[in-house]
Amino acid sequence: MNVPEQSGYKDINSEIQMPTVTEEQVKIYIDLYGQDLKENNKAMYKAKFLRSIRLASQKENVYICGRVSAEMYKKGIYNVDIQLDSLGVVQQCQCECAADMGPEAQCKHVGLVLHALTKLKEGIITQETCTQVLQKFHQAKKYTGSPVKMEYLVLRNSKNPMMALKTFDPRSLDCRNISGYDDQVRSIWLNSTATNPPIRQMYAPANVYAIANDHNYQDKSPEDMFLQSIHITAITHDEQESIETR
Ligand SMILES: [Zn+2]
Repeated sequence: MNVPEQSGYKDINSEIQMPTVTEEQVKIYIDLYGQDLKENNKAMYKAKFLRSIRLASQKENVYICGRVSAEMYKKGIYNVDIQLDSLGVVQQCQCECAADMGPEAQCKHVGLVLHALTKLKEGIITQETCTQVLQKFHQAKKYTGSPVKMEYLVLRNSKNPMMALKTFDPRSLDCRNISGYDDQVRSIWLNSTATNPPIRQMYAPANVYAIANDHNYQDKSPEDMFLQSIHITAITHDEQESIETR
C-alpha cells in the first residue's frame, strides 16, 4: 500500500474536512472477513489504546495514519494505515503487527482505528500526551502509609545491616547496666533546682508521714518545729504585741 509522505499528514480534529465514516461502513468491511471485533474495539478505544490519529488527502483518497499501543507489551506501537475513498468507504488497510500485513488487514488495531473514525463528530479520544496534564511533581502527595511504632523501625548499620530498634542500645558496652544507675538519675532530678521538669512525673510523691518518723539529729520533731515557727506553741511578749497592733 502506497501512503503519502509523513509531512503531508495533519492531526484530526472535529473541524477537519474528511469523508464521514459510519459504523455501518466499518461493519461491512469487518464482516467481509467474518470477524467479530466490535466489542473488543470499543473496549480498546475506551482504554485509550489509540495514541494518535492523523490524516492526509491525496487525489480522491484520504489516508489515515493511526498509532496503536500494543496490548501485550508496554512500549510497543503499531502503525496502522487506512485508505478511504471520498465517500468514506474503506479501500485498503495495513498494520505493522504480526497478525496482518494488509492490504486487507483485519487485526484489532485496524478495527480500533476504524472505530475511532466513527467517533469523529464527538471528538476522537486518544491517549494522553505528556504535556496534556499539568505537571504536579512540586505538589505534595497524600501520604497513605500507616505509622510504624518506633520500636519496630528497622535501622541500617554497617556492622548489623538490619537491626531491629527493639534491641538497639546506643550506649557503649561499659555504660550498660551500671548498678544504682536508676537511683542516681532519680536523685539528680529530685534534687534539681529546675521548676517542675516533666521527668519528675516519673517518680511518686514523697510520703509526708515518713518524714515525721524519719531519724534526724534535731532536738524537736519536725511538727514541733513547724508549730513553733508559726508562733503557736511558743510566742514572746513582743511578738504578741506586734500582732495585736497590726
Ligand atoms: Zn495489527
